[in-house]
Amino acid sequence: MSQDKIQKVTIIGSGPAGYTAAIYAARANLEPVVFAGGPTLEHPQRVPGGQLMVTTDVENYPGFPEAITGPELMERFQKQAERFNTVIHMENITKVDFSQRPFLLESESGIQVRSETVIISTGATAKWLGVKGEDTYKNRGVSACATCDGAFYKKQDVLVVGGGDTAMEEATYLAKIVNHVTLIHRRDSLRASKVMQERALNNPKISFMWNSAVEEVVGNAKGMTGAVVRNLKTGDSQLVNAQGLFVAIGHTPNTELFQGILETHQGGYLKTIPGSTRTNIEGVFACGDVQDSYYRQAITAAGTGCMAAIDAERWLIEHGE
Ligand code: NAP
Repeated sequence: MSQDKIQKVTIIGSGPAGYTAAIYAARANLEPVVFAGGPTLEHPQRVPGGQLMVTTDVENYPGFPEAITGPELMERFQKQAERFNTVIHMENITKVDFSQRPFLLESESGIQVRSETVIISTGATAKWLGVKGEDTYKNRGVSACATCDGAFYKKQDVLVVGGGDTAMEEATYLAKIVNHVTLIHRRDSLRASKVMQERALNNPKISFMWNSAVEEVVGNAKGMTGAVVRNLKTGDSQLVNAQGLFVAIGHTPNTELFQGILETHQGGYLKTIPGSTRTNIEGVFACGDVQDSYYRQAITAAGTGCMAAIDAERWLIEHGE
């Protein structure tokens, strides 16, 4: 890439949000460049394509009545972006300078990009428990998304870990599908909002294990069969049989690169001006999970990716492009 060339749109991140932004920007002749990301020392498991790359069947993405795997869906997003001549670099941006215009970005291999606008779609990373067996049974019992995977556990017994709104929401959602939900929380009171607590506490299909933590996920060749749960007060451990474990202990938005530069909400999610993808810096837009702690779906990420491309295009027009 010529360092003299000034890009109109540079996209950092490559989940549904980033690729949708690329498709729209490319079709508007803005010749977008995508830095798709990849593993880092701190996050060795991070892959281009985002969270869908570690999801099995996606049954709720409209247009795929037979379901599609997460990686296959992302491959299609990528191909569609490339069809309109998006340039994709499979690496991370490691430095941004939004204090000069055009903005200056630098990648881990040393590519420097000057760009009129930047679209941030770096996503979020689900927090995991880090216990024995968790990795082994990911996608074979262990999940971080009930909306994505709940339907695979019809009439089975599942566990949910966490005491926040996400855990209550996941448990209540799962209770409609599965046989029984056991919610495991490390304290004896919930962090979730009152209304969501009550909904879960009053649900006859949800029971609670207080002051408890999952020590190990166990299973066999077919998948998870249960978890060893320790009572943190008594120190006693017991095996709880279950076919699914939904970890709902929060997500971390991938915003390390923008610390102190872009405004964030509590929890680190990028702030956007309501009804738009504009951040506090003119010409910098944010879409997908990096700015959404609430919906966090592939389809909503794609929707905001489309918004970001349109916002960037209009911004360029307003500024004489
Ligand atoms: P959260 O509020 O940070 O809650 C995380 C929960 O996980 C806490 O109960 C925490 O326990 C527990 N936890 C954290 N690390 C743990 C670990 N290593 N092992 C076991 N438990 C652990 O996260 P969230 O529930 O994802 O919510 C994030 C934000 O989104 C919140 O502002 C929430 O209100 C919002 N949200 C809103 C809705 C809604 O309104 N419909 C739905 C979902 C999320 P402690 O309580 O002991 O710290």
